[in-house]
Amino acid sequence: MIYDVIVVGSGFSAIAVVCNLVEHLSDTASVAVIGDDPGFGRGTAYRTELHLHRLNVPASRMSLFPERPLEFVKWLEGHERSLQGSDFASRNDYGLYLRDTLAGLLRKRDGRCRVDFVKAKATGCVERYTSTLGFQLSNGDEIAGRHVVLCLGVGNAGLPAQPFGTAAAGRSRIIKNPWRLSWLRRVAPMDRVCILGSGLTMIDQVLALRAHGHRGVIDVLSRRGLIPLDHLRTQVAPLKIDTQTLPAKISAILKFLREQARDAEDWRCVMDGLRPVTQDLWKQLTLPERSRFLRHALPWWNIHRHRVAPDVFESFISLVRAGTVRVQAGFLKSIEMQGADGIVAKYRMRALREIAEIRAAWLVNCTGMERAGIDHSPLLNEMMRLGLIAQDPLRLGIQVNDRSEVQFTTETERARLFCVGALTAGQFWEITAVPDIRIQAKAVAEEIGRSQESIC
Ligand SMILES: Cc1cc2nc3c(=O)[nH]c(=O)nc-3n(C[C@H](O)[C@H](O)[C@H](O)COP(=O)(O)OP(=O)(O)OC[C@H]3O[C@@H](n4cnc5c(N)ncnc54)[C@H](O)[C@@H]3O)c2cc1C
Repeated sequence: MIYDVIVVGSGFSAIAVVCNLVEHLSDTASVAVIGDDPGFGRGTAYRTELHLHRLNVPASRMSLFPERPLEFVKWLEGHERSLQGSDFASRNDYGLYLRDTLAGLLRKRDGRCRVDFVKAKATGCVERYTSTLGFQLSNGDEIAGRHVVLCLGVGNAGLPAQPFGTAAAGRSRIIKNPWRLSWLRRVAPMDRVCILGSGLTMIDQVLALRAHGHRGVIDVLSRRGLIPLDHLRTQVAPLKIDTQTLPAKISAILKFLREQARDAEDWRCVMDGLRPVTQDLWKQLTLPERSRFLRHALPWWNIHRHRVAPDVFESFISLVRAGTVRVQAGFLKSIEMQGADGIVAKYRMRALREIAEIRAAWLVNCTGMERAGIDHSPLLNEMMRLGLIAQDPLRLGIQVNDRSEVQFTTETERARLFCVGALTAGQFWEITAVPDIRIQAKAVAEEIGRSQESIC
């Protein structure tokens, strides 16, 4: 069957696109969603069942629909969660809200488009007919669509060094994908744990370890040893920032922002003022300036921009103060397996020549899924080989235009191909969190709706 739209993926981006398509397509249209994750729409972020895994954005900004901003807050009220809009709900509750919203939309039979969920992975891509794109599926089937929306997330970054040593048995103690939380059950209370990476994923893993009864030392290693900062309990008014008046060079922009932060009631006023204009600002920067930002400012941007809920931060920082969590800054040199339960991570200490080591029973890769680009995905590699997609110049993901549409280099008539989510960071930069993705998902659904109308 040839569908009007194929959505590939089963995380937040996919559910946001599907919910908007249901609202924007006519009842004659057909949509197929390809994804093999259990719990469609939850993706890596919202499938956690641990209550302590909180959203890092207040509930009032987490509605699926930008035009109905309080929907999630109302859902929380309806489910007797005693939370307000400025509170940070659990990610599990958010996953339930996503599920309920989609189910509610699909329950309406009258006047809505057909939506088929195909439980499979897209393993390959083919162009069989004019104006359609086909996908080969892990279940052996093949389906084609006139519009395709790639919602594949950015996957997991690989280990920064390949483990060596004779103790192959110990390799199961290297956790390459910490989001499969089953590994936590195997950890003994006093086992030493080494976590690579010091971002939001690391904080999640530390708190999950504690919730599973772990009481031993956790060493955290990252290049700069920077950890995410916290939201304030009481929100401050964001500063109004006019991007037109900002200088062109990133160094001058950062100097300006630092000055503003010094004079503001709190530095978060400046970061929050940047939120609505970040994409415009990114588009204003030349390619060399964007690249300069990534080289020099990225770690600081991340810890100030992607903050944690105040009590999550409090729980984490109390472990640092108690010496249970030790954050080291350095460059990982090697991972050596010594015996069935011994892992030695050697690193060069930041700003020093000295080599130090961390000995642990477990090594957990939290170096981030954020910027793994397209390398993690065999499907995207295949699509690139076929000339269906291209990497953006900064290798953050797929090159798209302002409408999130992949621009083909050839003139042949083809299916329209869109991408939603962090893979479009080259064009939009901040496109990782719900408040940004939901706007993109709506715009893509509207664009497909218009394209559908013109065909009918
Ligand atoms: C732990 C965590 C917490 C977060 N917390 C927040 C928060 O509080 N607030 C916020 O705004 N943002 C948060 N984020 C940001 C978050 O990334 C986005 O909100 C959103 O979850 C991204 O969804 P996605 O669908 O783009 O990617 P993903 O969730 O990564 O989903 C991609 C999906 O595509 C599927 N897929 C990949 N390849 C194929 C294929 N070939 N065929 C079929 N399916 C495929 C994968 O299985 C996966 O289900 C958090 C992120 C993480 C990781």
